[in-house]
Amino acid sequence: MSWDNIIGLEREKSILQRAIISNRIAQSYLFYGNEGIGKKAMALEFAKTINCQSPIVDENSIYACDKCPSCMEMNNLSHPNLHLIYSIPAGKASDAKSDNPFAKLDEKQITEIQEELKVFSEDKYHKFMITGSHNIKIDQIRDIKRKVSLTSGAAGKSFVIIFNAEEMTREAANGFLKTLEEPTENTHIILIVQQREMLLNTILSRTQQIYFEDLTIDEIKNGLVSRYQIDEQKAKLIAVLSNGSFTSAQNYAKNQFTDLRIELIEIFRTALKKGAYKSDLLDKINLIIKENDSKQIISALLLFELWLRDAYSYIKTNSEDKIINLDQTESIRKFANYFTTFDYFKAIEIIENSIISIKKNVNIQLILVNLYLSLRRLVYKFC
Ligand SMILES: [Zn+2]
Repeated sequence: MSWDNIIGLEREKSILQRAIISNRIAQSYLFYGNEGIGKKAMALEFAKTINCQSPIVDENSIYACDKCPSCMEMNNLSHPNLHLIYSIPAGKASDAKSDNPFAKLDEKQITEIQEELKVFSEDKYHKFMITGSHNIKIDQIRDIKRKVSLTSGAAGKSFVIIFNAEEMTREAANGFLKTLEEPTENTHIILIVQQREMLLNTILSRTQQIYFEDLTIDEIKNGLVSRYQIDEQKAKLIAVLSNGSFTSAQNYAKNQFTDLRIELIEIFRTALKKGAYKSDLLDKINLIIKENDSKQIISALLLFELWLRDAYSYIKTNSEDKIINLDQTESIRKFANYFTTFDYFKAIEIIENSIISIKKNVNIQLILVNLYLSLRRLVYKFC
């Protein structure tokens, strides 16, 4: 992965490239900004570029070659100069005296970590998460200090990258602070957090802070099109829903929820039928519940909401320019022209309340039946 494979973040890339070219690499960095925009990918790219054996350099940019042994090891996370710290589960208390924090974990937990690292090495936008882990503990900090001191004689520069640094326990954070106060030569630290306020001021003041901006809709859209070969309309729709996070966008793209969106709209049509509709409605809802989990249903409901917003904007502007569900333009236009007095705001409120109920684990079948019956009442104005 060269810099070009990191989506957007041009300003952030150029700050880091300039630091390398001018040989002013800070001892410690803090990368902060929302989840899923590429902070980890950037930290790894930075470490890789600095350690590359034959980087491609011009006046304003420096690229890792992505071919040398160092680049290969950085890409698959096995480089001896690369030290990742992330939350791991507490593990068994019986082995609590061991120096190695991983020795306390059972085989299943170790396997999960290995698998998670493998997935992450192949996709740096993957949301890295180990089941049951909430804290970075002091023994992990000690462990890394030991490893760093062992590799300090090696070629290149060592990087300690801390994922979700706010998950350091107070003890770990204080232990870590000592590392910042007594820097090891040729070792750099990158702390990654969403909100910097979550870290001790004493840590913040010792880092060079770089804010990572949310990705734009176009950046996410283009990233999806080039990586997943999905069509532009679908990619734009997902981009709008992803709130600047490429990780979310990927999850949406992989879950293929956009098709569920069409099913939900189809059910809406069923609910609006004159004559007998109830058993058909129930069958369709049951099928959806059988084939999708609550997260997928919530995502699709958000899209359904967006479909209604599209219809509303079509009525207000009398133009299709603002429609996000571009593949649905025809059905949006038909609906808007036919149900001219539909209360869109009330409908959106009904969907939002349904989403809240699903999050609270209320019976999904009941929620969806109520949702569609409420929308039907809204259309035909009877109670
Ligand atoms: Zn290289």
